Amino acid sequence: MGAATVTSGLIGRLKDIVGAQGWLAEAPELEPYVLDQRGWYRGHTPLVVRPATVAEVSAVVRACAEARVGIVPQGGNTGLVGGAVPEGQILLSTARLKRIREVDPVDFTATVEAGCVLADVQAAAAEAGLLFPLSLAAEGSCEIGGNLSTNAGGTAVLRYGNARELVLGLEVVLADGTIWNGLRRLRKDNTGYDLKQLFLGSEGTLGIITAAVLKLFPRPRHVRTAFVAVTSPEAAVRLLGRCRAASGDGVTTFEYMDRTSLELVLEHIPDTRDPLGERHAHHVLLELTSSRERDDLESLLEAALEGGYEAGYVVDAAIATSEARSRELWRLRESIPEAERVAGAGIKHDISVPIARVPEFLERAREAVLRELPDALVVAFGHLGDGNIHFNLNQPPGMTRDAFMAHMPGINRTVMDIAVEMEGSFSAEHGVGRLKRADLERYKSPVEVELMRTLKRAFDPEDILNPGKVI
Ligand SMILES: Cc1cc2nc3c(=O)[nH]c(=O)nc-3n(C[C@H](O)[C@H](O)[C@H](O)COP(=O)(O)OP(=O)(O)OC[C@H]3O[C@@H](n4cnc5c(N)ncnc54)[C@H](O)[C@@H]3O)c2cc1C
Repeated sequence: MGAATVTSGLIGRLKDIVGAQGWLAEAPELEPYVLDQRGWYRGHTPLVVRPATVAEVSAVVRACAEARVGIVPQGGNTGLVGGAVPEGQILLSTARLKRIREVDPVDFTATVEAGCVLADVQAAAAEAGLLFPLSLAAEGSCEIGGNLSTNAGGTAVLRYGNARELVLGLEVVLADGTIWNGLRRLRKDNTGYDLKQLFLGSEGTLGIITAAVLKLFPRPRHVRTAFVAVTSPEAAVRLLGRCRAASGDGVTTFEYMDRTSLELVLEHIPDTRDPLGERHAHHVLLELTSSRERDDLESLLEAALEGGYEAGYVVDAAIATSEARSRELWRLRESIPEAERVAGAGIKHDISVPIARVPEFLERAREAVLRELPDALVVAFGHLGDGNIHFNLNQPPGMTRDAFMAHMPGINRTVMDIAVEMEGSFSAEHGVGRLKRADLERYKSPVEVELMRTLKRAFDPEDILNPGKVI
């Protein structure tokens, strides 16, 4: 199913549908579409189609469905689980579906096409004096269709939720080419199943998202960013509680960084420095924001930090007093993946556990992986406020890349087992794609796996959409 040979007749039909500007077939042009972000997956495709309208997407899908040929949708190709890499199927890039159809300051919504780059959606909202809060390090190249299909998280989930919480309506091309126009902008609509939620986070396996109505928010007028040293991960959790109690919904970001992640950044990323005078083992980057006309975030933050200091779990803090200083603090957090990459090969995890259990997870996971690989560098950082930690291992000095990476399956199993045993998830943000298909079978209950298969069969009986991914 979905695996029929691509004939020259189908290729010709697809080229006619999208026109001369809408396809690529020469090997050098195909390269960026068949290689994933990390260089882990190299796929192949006979044709990349780049439709410019929803009608073209629909016609492409209909032609492929009739020929029983699979289609892989691709946005910015920044995904980290190989989900957008084709394995011989037609690749459908959404890059030309670029229109911001409407920004509505009364409804606080933006209606945008799937190929809009996330940063452009943020900018369109800002132009209207509003905020689209989804924010992640790949925002200059990932596209909104990809964000919604992976239910992206990022740095403001604590306050605004994951991508799926930021959507009011969707337009989707279904597996037979039918267009479902669900572009409603209603805050309240209790009329049966919430179909849009099925497509959000389904990684292109149930339908191709072509446009969405997104929720916008009041723009923050006040922002306070702090880089705080705490005595332990438990202390970080206590500080989160204190900041939330003090500011209500003011905590937008609460990111944990262990010493190793900071050291990697200071060593490998130019023009960075430790904002605190002394070395500390555990850090938090936190941000409070407020959209009120008057608000004294500085006093709130100082009071919360002083409380933590008096209680003995906050050790030191740097509060940014300018936007430039705040950007410097953010850069420390955002540069960790790049610093890890420069430092050598990495075995990475994107797990989540209930927030209160993050300290226990860190301790158990560290102990377990060091038992298996005593010299590995443990790099732990991430969205502590969401219970989502990037628990990574970097290649130890003196071990070759291949020898280190040979440990990946065992280490992955160890770390994911611990997270799932602690009521957590084996993939909090990046999704399943190709990389974690076997993990989905292992960690989801048989009931859940069977429900997912039932949905796939109902939405895509011929397995046309992103075959071989997720389920
Ligand atoms: C530096 C960096 C930082 C990152 N930080 C985060 C982070 O903080 N949080 C987070 O959640 N992720 C993060 N990611 C992962 C990635 O950026 C996100 O998953 C992003 O949402 C993917 O968007 P994309 O347009 O690149 O999608 P792609 O990689 O092109 O596709 C991802 C998946 O969605 C499917 N898809 C794409 N477009 C559509 C569509 N229109 N309809 C249906 N299916 C579609 C693809 O088939 C594939 O399965 C990061 C990645 C990088 C490189």
